[in-house]
Amino acid sequence: MNRAEIIHWLRTSDEAALESLWREADAVRRREVGDAVHLRGLVEVSNQCVRQCAYCGIRAGNRTISRYTLRLEEILASVALAQQFGYGSVVLQAGETSQGLPTEWVAEVIREIRRRAPEMAITLSLGERGEKAFETWRLAGADRYLLRMESSNPTLFRKLHPQHPGWEFRLAALKQLQEIGYEVGSGVMIGVPGETWDDLAADIEMFRTLELDMVGVGPFLPHPQTPMGVEKPTFNDELTTLKTIALTRLLCPRVNIPSTTALAAIDRESGHERGLSRGANVIMPNVTPPQYRQLYEIYPSKANTLEAAETFDRKLQERIRAMGRSVGVGRGNSRRKYK
Ligand code: SAH
Repeated sequence: MNRAEIIHWLRTSDEAALESLWREADAVRRREVGDAVHLRGLVEVSNQCVRQCAYCGIRAGNRTISRYTLRLEEILASVALAQQFGYGSVVLQAGETSQGLPTEWVAEVIREIRRRAPEMAITLSLGERGEKAFETWRLAGADRYLLRMESSNPTLFRKLHPQHPGWEFRLAALKQLQEIGYEVGSGVMIGVPGETWDDLAADIEMFRTLELDMVGVGPFLPHPQTPMGVEKPTFNDELTTLKTIALTRLLCPRVNIPSTTALAAIDRESGHERGLSRGANVIMPNVTPPQYRQLYEIYPSKANTLEAAETFDRKLQERIRAMGRSVGVGRGNSRRKYK
């Protein structure tokens, strides 16, 4: 599929044609990665951040929130929950802060998780902390790293990240992670102010060129406490998000694709299921201690995230089975093969 064809899909509202896109994406998903839905427990380790990302509610410039970093025991308790639910991986996510999360301390956390949950994959989503930190954490036992490029358009990237050295550095970080031996995930927000169809089509093509193991996409959700929260979003809607998931599945057949919390935030009723039936094969339930979740407000009112992990897990596993899918067993490693 070329750029023009991708753009055509992104722009169409022809329902009969879209039915064929959904069917094909679902068939490729089933053939290439199977019916299992892999679950990854998300731990929001810290909302401290030094960056000024123009879209993100926990950016350094937002002085209206109180900042926290979980203690080791709190992280381990969250991991224990994910382990008890049988999740294949735990994702440690945070703002970008070497003060709040010193490299060595994170390495110790990783080693402790390794000891207690040797069967689980450890996934990090801690921002661009530099090659040295990436290496230290890999040696400590981390398996995967999530770092969204946010946009494949360097100009738009600059607008999204005003004080960042630039898009090439984000790309270089993704390459470093791959060379160090992580399974690497990236992705974009959909419909940020100023984004064009051509930008989004180029994003999808770039997922393939980068040979990613995981691709996460979700709608941009304006946060009032941020510079971008007051601008007009473009196509940050559910249909565009579902098309992006489906097209990603067609271009990167074996990649792991989450049906994201941001998608569920704009469709509480069935966002997770819709993503799963149009190409996605992963869900990342929140296992952060409940008292911290409201403080990790990267965008307003994150869906379901205030529900107790036990309740959410029980309902989710039921819903997965009701769709005729199974709950993933084991780590759910990347099965990508590009060549
Ligand atoms: N500090 C880490 C984790 C960021 S939060 C990092 O920089 O990688 C994870 C993702 O949430 C981000 O990569 C971004 O794509 C998404 N996100 C942040 N703010 C958002 C918003 N307002 N709407 C939708 N998604 C958002």
